[in-house]
Amino acid sequence: MTDLDLAELERLAKAATPGPWSWCAKQTADGDSWAVLDSHDHALAMNTDGWVLDAEFIAATDPQTVLALIERAESAERRIAVVREMHRPIDIEPSDTICGECSLQLPNGHFFGKVVEWPCETVKALTEGDEQ
Ligand SMILES: [Zn+2]
Repeated sequence: MTDLDLAELERLAKAATPGPWSWCAKQTADGDSWAVLDSHDHALAMNTDGWVLDAEFIAATDPQTVLALIERAESAERRIAVVREMHRPIDIEPSDTICGECSLQLPNGHFFGKVVEWPCETVKALTEGDEQ
């Protein structure tokens, strides 16, 4: 999965058994290693060839955990959108773009004294690492 599709992850998490999930390692008589994932009223098994870390990870990402991560991501995105709206660019004469939040705006609407070029440090911090 290269794109993060939160809506699809939410749909999958809500459709799956709620968890919590756990796992245990089993070994057959011929030496095959299996991870058995116990997810409520049924179990899933996968041949791990010793890669029990995969089973541990799958058990740790049960639907409730995924839904909590989605809620946390969406909450952070909502708060970031509010801050971006506060620190929006404003074009002033002759050809400057400043931050409307960080710059000092007088009651008459003109900016004076403290004028901060856009993107300001807040917007830079929010967009650092973005591919925009
Ligand atoms: Zn700003």
